[in-house]
Amino acid sequence: MSNAGENRPSNFIRQIIDADLQSGKHHSVHTRFPPEPNGYLHIGHAKSICLNFGLAVDYQGQCNLRFDDTNPAKEDQEFVDSIERDVHWLGFDWAGEVRHSSDYFEQLHDYAVELIEKGLAYVDELTPEQIREYRGSLKEPGKNSPYRDRSVEENLALFKKMREGGYQEGQACLRAKIDMASSFIVMRDPVLYRVKFAHHHQTGDKWCIYPMYDFTHCISDAIEGITHSLCTLEFQDNRRLYDWVLDNISIDTHPRQYEFSRLNLAYTVTSKRKLNQLVTEHHVEGWNDPRMPTIAGMRRRGYTPESIREFCKRIGVTKMDNTVEMAMLEACIRDDLNENAPRAMAVLDPVRLVIENYPEGEVEWLEAPNHPNKPEMGNRQVPFSRELVIEAEDFREEANKKYKRLVLGKEVRLRNSYVIKAERVEKDDAGNITTIFCSYDADTLGKDPADGRKVKGVIHWVSKAHGQQAEVRLYDRLFNVPNPGGAEDFLATLNPASLVVRQGYVEASLAQAEAGNGFQFERLGYFCRDSESETLVFNQTVGLRDTWGGGE
Ligand code: ATP
Ligand code: MG
Repeated sequence: MSNAGENRPSNFIRQIIDADLQSGKHHSVHTRFPPEPNGYLHIGHAKSICLNFGLAVDYQGQCNLRFDDTNPAKEDQEFVDSIERDVHWLGFDWAGEVRHSSDYFEQLHDYAVELIEKGLAYVDELTPEQIREYRGSLKEPGKNSPYRDRSVEENLALFKKMREGGYQEGQACLRAKIDMASSFIVMRDPVLYRVKFAHHHQTGDKWCIYPMYDFTHCISDAIEGITHSLCTLEFQDNRRLYDWVLDNISIDTHPRQYEFSRLNLAYTVTSKRKLNQLVTEHHVEGWNDPRMPTIAGMRRRGYTPESIREFCKRIGVTKMDNTVEMAMLEACIRDDLNENAPRAMAVLDPVRLVIENYPEGEVEWLEAPNHPNKPEMGNRQVPFSRELVIEAEDFREEANKKYKRLVLGKEVRLRNSYVIKAERVEKDDAGNITTIFCSYDADTLGKDPADGRKVKGVIHWVSKAHGQQAEVRLYDRLFNVPNPGGAEDFLATLNPASLVVRQGYVEASLAQAEAGNGFQFERLGYFCRDSESETLVFNQTVGLRDTWGGGE
């Protein structure tokens, strides 16, 4: 499990585990991560993955990957494959084979029969609407279904009929017989099985009845010998049902469920339904669009597994609902890349610069460090020549002293190179600067001017003939409001400027960049080569500094 076993701070779940190991209740820890394969994994899932797999690493236990695949209509093999890839990429590995809730359909069916035989489950023929009506509300108790008191024999026969396709969808379901007056609505005779004529990606057309989450999850946990079943807070009430099912069937193990708060991230959504809508309605390029909070999107954006694990460590695990600032996530990748990403030069909004006293046709290969503070990362050769491009915003015809870049008649240093002076400009008919003509001081390579004059500013550049033309994609927040999920129409809060495309130049060495390898484009930010493009395309991972105004 590679290097995913970082030191993690304690939390209430670790305290429970420590106590369970100390008291001898458990001798080892066995957790599971149970995604529903109806979408790609997102940053919220990463929290659950780091928690579940992280506990297994730290306690030398095991963590299963189990697809919670009880709703065949919404599930897809593409999602299954992406989930496996993303868990691995995050640095984790599951114990043994991948599991599926559907592996247990036969056993689940037999436990349902056991509940019927014990008089604890019945086939209900109320319509779904009637079931909802009969359920009552938080203020009012529910009332019993007229089908609640069927005999065991009748229920067995009708459940068999359900299984054999004798009912249409919605005509019948199997319900637990618990308490229609319970203060916990989940305990008001919850549905255990429903009829669904759907092809299942694992079991094909074998079943036309499918078990519900609450019935499936606890039994799957017990079958797999899970010790600590960790889920998010909205399942707190469901714990009653989790325990009720396991208490009433003949199974030896009884895992315990513990709830923690889900991750909410500002300016984004983590509901799979909403993410799915962004994809299917083409508001983004796909599940791996670099603006998406999906693991696949973040990978393509240039996030590293280390940075995501670090983020999950920093946010911790509690029972308190809160929203985490985007600045916190970005700080994690910025810290990582600042430390580890090689430096390079790129010009995103190029303007031509000609050094008139530099010989035509001459090329000098200048030595540039890959990292300012890490000589062990080595140097690279950067070609310098008479014709360069610089960033349009790094030149002004006039400016006050605060502007530490190139100004007409003044000097600036070219990063890793000479001091130059802007002599004159050429403009097109519309008044746009097309070329900046400069002179250079040949005696300033790697040293200050000999006469002691001070040159304060430093700007980046690329040799025009050697630079590679590249498309650079700049990203901003995908949504304009801190809580798009809470908006009446979350699509209306999409930021139309979340992607800005620039046609720029990158230094020659970047033509060999591999997808996913991060670079600091000096003075601009962190970027990585796009994994989906044939041509040279770079995605902005994060800027050099926090732009969210959030607490870092
Ligand atoms: P949705 O919100 O779209 O219904 P889900 O929570 O049902 O998503 P699953 O695929 O069932 O998604 O989630 C797998 C596991 O990941 C569950 O244990 C769930 O609790 C956890 N998880 C999902 N979203 C978050 C989140 N935002 N923060 C922490 N854990 C999460
Ligand atoms: Mg779920």
